[in-house]
Amino acid sequence: MVKPVVVVGAGLAGLVCARKLHQLGVPVIVVDADDRPGGRLKTDREGGFLLDRGFQTLFTAYPSAKRELDMDALNLGKFEKGAHIFHGGNLSLLEPQTLMDMFRTKFELVRSKTIPLGDKRLLAKFSGSAGHMSVRQAYATDPMPTEDYLRGFGFGDEIMDRFFRPFLGGIFLDKSLTVDSRQFLFVWAMLNQGQTAIPANGIQAIADQITADIPRYLFRFGNKVDQIVRDSHGHPTGIRFDTSETIDANSVVIATEAEEASRLAGQPTAEGHKSSTCLYFETATPVVDGAYLLLNGSGKGIVNHVAPVSNASPTYAPSGKHLASVTVLGNPEQSDQELAEIAKQELNEWVPSKGAYMWRFIRGYRIGFAQMAQPVGFIERLPGNATSHTGLYLAGEFTQNSSIDGAIRSGLEAAALVTSEQGAAEAA
Ligand SMILES: Cc1cc2nc3c(=O)[nH]c(=O)nc-3n(C[C@H](O)[C@H](O)[C@H](O)COP(=O)(O)OP(=O)(O)OC[C@H]3O[C@@H](n4cnc5c(N)ncnc54)[C@H](O)[C@@H]3O)c2cc1C
Repeated sequence: MVKPVVVVGAGLAGLVCARKLHQLGVPVIVVDADDRPGGRLKTDREGGFLLDRGFQTLFTAYPSAKRELDMDALNLGKFEKGAHIFHGGNLSLLEPQTLMDMFRTKFELVRSKTIPLGDKRLLAKFSGSAGHMSVRQAYATDPMPTEDYLRGFGFGDEIMDRFFRPFLGGIFLDKSLTVDSRQFLFVWAMLNQGQTAIPANGIQAIADQITADIPRYLFRFGNKVDQIVRDSHGHPTGIRFDTSETIDANSVVIATEAEEASRLAGQPTAEGHKSSTCLYFETATPVVDGAYLLLNGSGKGIVNHVAPVSNASPTYAPSGKHLASVTVLGNPEQSDQELAEIAKQELNEWVPSKGAYMWRFIRGYRIGFAQMAQPVGFIERLPGNATSHTGLYLAGEFTQNSSIDGAIRSGLEAAALVTSEQGAAEAA
């Protein structure tokens, strides 16, 4: 019997890699410690609500996602460009505008004092330049902390603290603005060049779409891989579960989170990670009109941002009900229930007419490893898909960047490497 390629990890990277190998006729199996595929892209159904394990969105401009996903079939609900900012006891709407729009509406803009007019003009100019960069251009810029990049462009303290910190804090799960500026520019270009969206069936629908193309019998769930079995030269010959059971393999693709990949491969991958906590509330009425994010520009409190998810996609809540996702960065020591009470008090100030103190807390999620860290220079330190041993490969966001797009691209590149090395071995 021909031994299969074993893919360890059924997150997006592992799934994309396995689907490509299967499509190319390469025998493949996928094993995952969890009870179902998707990795970090998981959605639970509770009382008619769709609860993603952490608020996350798909940028429709993602290049690898555009190629690999059937976007139409995901039936995407879109968020508006722009955000409500809570500062000085009020919410005010910041919308990306072209310079011409800004001049037309300047009297309106002067009235809203949360972000100074000069910074709003600069934001329009910035989006007009950085927002149009290609992925290649974004990654070809000089790396520096995102804060330095933005300050170098001329942004002042108010917009840094009231907009960029909570907004990019929500994207990178870190408000420090220390993320490599090239990754920020990539994200900014994606935001500008497409929509920010969630699938009608929850974020897991992205993984489900790939999974549907791989026969069910090629998956095994519920057992953690403890070890890669190797021959005397270190080349992989199989995997061993924590039950001691083994499966023989022709090659092994490690498609776990970075830290587990380092352990299994016995070599460094990417260091550090970001955590987040997500609290879901049923709200009597939509938190705001329109599918706008709400950002905490006050510099106080635990809530970083609120996403009125059922405004973007009504399928996230039963008919007549509304769902709000509240993100707290990190993994605070209070219980979920305690965090929910604090969040309700804070949000009662943000939206005083929405009865936040009455919102029903549905449930919370703690995501310990939500994203890998992406400090300045992380791109040069990415491990790539190859290892020092023939037949042992890496796939995962940690070979590209921490995003849905990075995971997809990594899965594709891992599959290409496996097939090219197998082809070369057969030809030899
Ligand atoms: C809260 C949150 C917000 C995010 N926001 C966004 C966003 O807005 N936009 C965006 O593009 N991206 C976002 N991301 C990032 C994105 O979800 C990830 O980059 C991507 O899903 C990573 O996929 P992966 O396949 O690399 O890893 P994972 O999805 O982590 O897959 C790894 C798999 O390996 C399995 N595994 C681990 N160890 C073992 C073992 N020893 N044996 C067997 N199986 C094992 C795990 O169970 C898991 O299924 C967010 C992530 C989170 C959590």
